[in-house]
Amino acid sequence: MSNIIDFFLNKLFYKNPKDLLFYMITIIVYILLIIFIIFLIKNNSQYVSLLFFIILIFSFLIIGFEFGIGIAGIWILLNIIGMIFIREFSVILVNITNIILTVVLTYFLSLFIIEIDTRNKNIELKNLDIQRKIIEKKEEYDKVKSQIEGNKTRIKNYTLLNEVAQKLATTLEKEEIYKIVFDYISPLLNNKKVNFDFLIWDEESGIYECLSEKYDTRHTNGTIILYKKDSFDEWVEVNKHTLFIKNLDDDYRFKILPKDKKIFKSIVCIPLLEKQKILGILKVYSEKVNFFDNDDARILNYLGDLCTIIVQNLLLYLKTKELAIKDGLTGLYMRRYFIEKLNEEIKRVKQLNTTFSFLMIDIDHFKECNDTYGHLFGDKVLKILGEFLKDNLRDVDIIGRYGGEEFAVILPNTNYNGATFVAERLRTNFEKLIIKVNENEGRKVTLSIGGVEYKNNFKLMEVIDCADKALYHSKETGRNKVTFWEDIK
Ligand code: GH3
Ligand code: MG
Ligand code: MG
Repeated sequence: MSNIIDFFLNKLFYKNPKDLLFYMITIIVYILLIIFIIFLIKNNSQYVSLLFFIILIFSFLIIGFEFGIGIAGIWILLNIIGMIFIREFSVILVNITNIILTVVLTYFLSLFIIEIDTRNKNIELKNLDIQRKIIEKKEEYDKVKSQIEGNKTRIKNYTLLNEVAQKLATTLEKEEIYKIVFDYISPLLNNKKVNFDFLIWDEESGIYECLSEKYDTRHTNGTIILYKKDSFDEWVEVNKHTLFIKNLDDDYRFKILPKDKKIFKSIVCIPLLEKQKILGILKVYSEKVNFFDNDDARILNYLGDLCTIIVQNLLLYLKTKELAIKDGLTGLYMRRYFIEKLNEEIKRVKQLNTTFSFLMIDIDHFKECNDTYGHLFGDKVLKILGEFLKDNLRDVDIIGRYGGEEFAVILPNTNYNGATFVAERLRTNFEKLIIKVNENEGRKVTLSIGGVEYKNNFKLMEVIDCADKALYHSKETGRNKVTFWEDIK
């Protein structure tokens, strides 16, 4: 029994969807029923009414409300026609009973169907509500999930930043610093492949030293190129905050930039600032548009902060180191460090099979300067001579304050002839200078110079000794003179 009810509810009940086959079978059943009814009417059977009420009930329940009403209408019409044509009391009584029963049945069936429809509607509404709630919950879930994912990446990135900070804290070598940033920059950006420049401002030369160009041999093949500032460097220098460009072609600030300067489309350029003073720049870029998102920019800013600290430390270290090796009065290398340099130069020429020359310079009658005009004037002379040597020698030449008023110079890749020329030029140019003693009085100071060209297998002390002998000769033979060891040996 329950199987039949299930079947009825699942398949036949008017609420459930019907297919073409169902309608075809229904039509055939109805045609057969009509034929059967006509047959029953012809035989004056009393079962006609009963059959019709069964059909009415099924029409309502299987096909639906409108169809049921239709069938009821037809049945009432047929009864009215019956009453008109067969004017027998018994027939009229049956017809009227039929009509009353049909109306009552139709009324209750309609009520039943309306009730079911209302219930279904409520259930549907509830379902819709539940579905809406499910969607809302799913959205909430997705949001929380993406937040968790985001937090995971953030935790990973901060762990990496922590590692970078720890590694950077262990080194004061520019190459090491560059390599640490190189190793970590891509993992910090979810393994995106990027290009970057790490620039350190060099106060003395007034240019940026580009660590990437210096230490990344993939770019330079070992040759060092002087870094030239670009528009982005200039922008951060002026604005003193990070420049973040998602698509350079759309950026109004760089509209006037020529096309060939726009090879990079996405840029994060971070100034490394110490109290608004620029120490360097960390510039990260890609040829792809919209390559960096806000999270990337944030993490690069943190990396920039770490780089700022490390550059501050580095500069402080270099300054301290310089103070330890450079003479405070003249800014030249002091004897100990200068001798180290001389040693290095000897090694270099041995390896490269080249040569260098070495000069010892001594101020003539310096004691007399001090005695006549005071020590302050003596200091001034020393300072001026230091400046003079820096101005009159090449950048590659190494100058040191060897003793009190004795200076020494290494002239790399310079032979006897070249060195004689240089020494003679120094002597004559310095002689021309008038060093002011006070507003009205000035004094000329002369130099005696001894020099030597490095000879194969010369030991360090031999080089110094030869130059010293030559200098002694200059003093002995009248001062304000250049002598080379080669001339007197
Ligand atoms: P000569 O021509 O033979 O080289 O004579 P000189 O007087 O230059 O040489 P001497 O070695 O007799 O004297 C060097 C003087 O340099 C003695 C010393 O007081 C002075 N002196 C050394 N260091 C300094 C310094 O830092 N400042 C000053 N003002 N004088 C110094
Ligand atoms: Mg002297
Ligand atoms: Mg001397």
